[in-house]
Order: sequence, then C-alpha cells, then structure tokens
Amino acid sequence: MSSQHHLPPWLQADLQRLLRQSGHALLLQGAGGMGQLALGLALMRAWLCEQPQADGQACGQCPSCHALAVRAHADALVLMPEEEMLRQAWPLPDKAQRELDEKKRKPSKEIRVDAMRDAVEFCQRTNARGRGKAVLIYPAEAMNHITANTLLKTLEEPPGAVRFVLVSEAAHLLLPTIRSRCLSHAMQWPAPEQVLAWLQAQGISADAAQASLRAAGNSPEQALAIAQSPENLALCRKLPQVLKQGDAKTLQALPAAQQLAWLQKLCHDLMCLSQGAAPRFFAAADLPAKPPALRLLGRWAKALTQQARSIEHPYNQGLMTEALVAQARSILRT
Ligand SMILES: [Zn+2]
Repeated sequence: MSSQHHLPPWLQADLQRLLRQSGHALLLQGAGGMGQLALGLALMRAWLCEQPQADGQACGQCPSCHALAVRAHADALVLMPEEEMLRQAWPLPDKAQRELDEKKRKPSKEIRVDAMRDAVEFCQRTNARGRGKAVLIYPAEAMNHITANTLLKTLEEPPGAVRFVLVSEAAHLLLPTIRSRCLSHAMQWPAPEQVLAWLQAQGISADAAQASLRAAGNSPEQALAIAQSPENLALCRKLPQVLKQGDAKTLQALPAAQQLAWLQKLCHDLMCLSQGAAPRFFAAADLPAKPPALRLLGRWAKALTQQARSIEHPYNQGLMTEALVAQARSILRT
C-alpha cells in the first residue's frame, strides 16, 4: 500500500507543515480532488509510526505502518459513509457488515451515528501500540447534526492521546461548533507545471498529461484518473466529434456519472466560446469553430443538471446514454 513516498510533492510540503502543528484536531478543507484524503491518511500514518523519520514522516516499515497499510491498526479509526468505505475497500465494523450481508438495509450515504458512538468509545480505550490513537473522518460534511453533536465533546476534550483529522470537500456545510474546535488547513491548488511533471513521472506522456489536466479542470487526482483510463483519455480530444457523429458506444463504456460530467464540461466550454471567453476543459482547436447559440446551450445545461439529480438511479443506463447523445448531437449540429 502507499507509503508517504507516493504523496505528490505539493502534498509532501503540506504534510511537513502540518506535522509541526501541535493541535489535536485538524480540518483539511478544499474542493474535491485536491488531495486532502491522501494527506489526511499520511498524517495518520506519521502520527502512529513507531520509528518516524527525522522529518516526522512515517517510516513505512514498522509494525504500525504495516498494520495501517493492511487497514487493520488497533489505534486507527476511519469514519466514512458506508458507501464510501465499500468503494475504497475499507473494512466495515462486523455488525454493520452483517446487516449489509443480510440485506437488512442499504450502505449508508452518511456517517452513521452508531459508527460515531463506536468512535467515541474507541477514543476512551487505552491505545494498543503506545503511539496514541488517530481518527480520520471523511468527508466530514457527511456527519448529520446528531452525528456531529455526538463527536463534539470528544473533539473538545479528548480523553487520552487521540488526534483527529477531519477531511472536508465542503467545509461550509460543517457545524460551526465543529469547525471552531479544529485547526483549519486550506488546501491549495498546485502549480500546473508541478502537476504536469508529477503526471509524467508516473509514465504519462506530455500530451496526455496536458489534455487530462485540462479536462480535469486542474485537479491532479482527477487528471491522473483520466490519464490512466484509455476511454476517458480519448474523450479529452474526441468528445465533440463523438457526439456530432451520434456515437453512444464510446460513452457507454463509462459510468453514468462520468458520462454526464463530460457533457457538462463540454456544455460549459461551448457557453464560454459563445460569449467570446476561453474554454476551460477542452482545447479550443478540438471544439467547433462556431458554437451553438447560447439560448440552446442554456437549455442543454438545464437538462443536464436535471439528469444529474437522478443519475444514481437511471431507469436504463443504455437508453439514458442514447438520449443524452441524441440531445447533444442535435445541439452540436445546429
Ligand atoms: Zn512506521
């Protein structure tokens, strides 16, 4: 599993700075895809490491680092909505796993109050390995009011050597009482040159790095995901063409949410063009020289937003894609 060596250089700098902080509760906040989860996990590894390096970072070798790498550290607790835990292959508590196995309920989209009660209990236990304990909460805005209030007292006066890292992609949704008890760290976008160099260091060609970073709206994590997926990478340049041809197959290879995200990016860029502004996600050369009328694009944007609301339950994904492509085609052909 990833050690600190896999953190991109700009997150390494953040990690160094945060390891010098003495507060027991950190809030990492920024837009999605800025790397705050990777940073939060790296902090947790460093806090619990038994032989930290001179700069305070985790060694990646000791029993504690190994236990975290296999996600079975007695002094580490990760709180996420169950859907997110499953997506990221974090083990669920036995009871929750059993309930899901027996189909008694669906995986939660929020951090459950039961899980938070267990976390409060976890904080009260003596730590097993002697380096204190660590709790990571992601995304922190997935705590509802009851869950957040269950955490409050422990966050204010942790019973022992417990440190918290709250990772947020929408910190404005957090209760002010939670925010005020944490030392806040705002994530910064790295310089594009730094991200391009990092992408290329992972074996991605200069062209692909450029195209994927642009398509990802400068998010390094999303750029890497795009660059590593041949289907997505091809769409960085070919989406307008694919749609104009009415080709639904190319998009059908992707999950519904990704299909919609691509269409929304294209619609956004065409709106920019129609107003004489520079596109953001696509190269101008790959977009139609004469964009459709703003009135049509506005209607398209609205329809895509409506689709996005029901995206988790498409009645039939194949039909949905065909309808989306037909709609895009009719607009691009005007
Ligand atoms: Zn270690």
